[in-house]
Amino acid sequence: MNIATPTPDLARSADHPTPLIDPFARAITYLRVSVTDRCDFRCVYCMSEHMSFLPKAELLTLEELDRLCSAFVAKGVRKLRLTGGEPLVRRGIMNLFSSLSRHLKTGVLDELTLTTNGSQLARYATELRDCGVERINVSLDTLDPDKFRAITRWGDFGKVMAGIDAAQAAGIKVKINAVALKGVNENELADIVTWSHGRGMDLTIIEVMPLGDIDEDRLGQYLPLSIVRAELAKRFTLEDIDYQSGGPARYVRVKETGGRLGFITPMTHNFCESCNRVRVTCTGTLYMCLGQEDAADLRQPLRASEANDALYAAIDEAISRKPKGHDFIIDRRHKRPALSRHMSVTGG
Ligand code: SAM
Repeated sequence: MNIATPTPDLARSADHPTPLIDPFARAITYLRVSVTDRCDFRCVYCMSEHMSFLPKAELLTLEELDRLCSAFVAKGVRKLRLTGGEPLVRRGIMNLFSSLSRHLKTGVLDELTLTTNGSQLARYATELRDCGVERINVSLDTLDPDKFRAITRWGDFGKVMAGIDAAQAAGIKVKINAVALKGVNENELADIVTWSHGRGMDLTIIEVMPLGDIDEDRLGQYLPLSIVRAELAKRFTLEDIDYQSGGPARYVRVKETGGRLGFITPMTHNFCESCNRVRVTCTGTLYMCLGQEDAADLRQPLRASEANDALYAAIDEAISRKPKGHDFIIDRRHKRPALSRHMSVTGG
């Protein structure tokens, strides 16, 4: 399928739409879009093995996703990240990248990027680069192929390595995201630092969040990054730096490798005060906060009219409800997730 004629979105509304400023004076300039809830992996902390996915009819079409993203760009979003599920398993996804790249060319968008498990990168790396994608995040929690299979249930380590090779060969800067998992990869994180930095890639370590039912015990997986950092500090010299990637990570420079290491700590440290992001699901539901249930339906105004006025109004109304922050709590007594929706729905 082709997104043949991009919609003249920036001219749709009679007025120039107003920028997105939330009640705490934070400018919303970063949109993450989950383009599919489906994935070719079943990571143990993310999904249960037998997930039920949305019927295809519920999903926004690629044209609708383009129009929605473009409406946010018209309202001041400067960074777009496509995620999922696995964004590269959505059929025709390159047409969406290609179409959205027009906003890079006109200069209204600073960055078009994605978060991927890397399984399809060997196939798509060059096309992504041609669409103006300069940096990507690849999720990888271990360098041990057997452990990789155990964590992802379905993943093929060799394919992901080939994907990372292809991305680097295409000139795309790769950042590795690793979720810290107690008793699974905690003893390997220092090696992942050395490996990532040795290949010229930044690394971000993420605390596991209590999102969605997953057939596993959250407490068993949870490893505070304060402990991870203390352990890494025994092996490396970690120097605080000011670097910002536009996301929630706090970075250090690892003196011995010269590389950057980020920590994303939703559980032990609230990163909400500087939040500049919102998330849209593949059905057009806007979540103003990863850690809260409040949401707004954008599919209805999107489909109700060819003009964007109702859509802009719905976005404005939702942003006026963006909460100050979240508190994730792992429910120790009932072993319930803090939020029932999976990361694959909201988009990581
Ligand atoms: N399929 C793509 C990928 O693997 O990167 C994009 C979607 S995935 C949901 C995005 C990121 O969320 C991955 O880095 C994954 O490890 C992370 N993630 C998923 N569930 C999580 C959880 N409960 N806590 C912390 N990170 C999680």
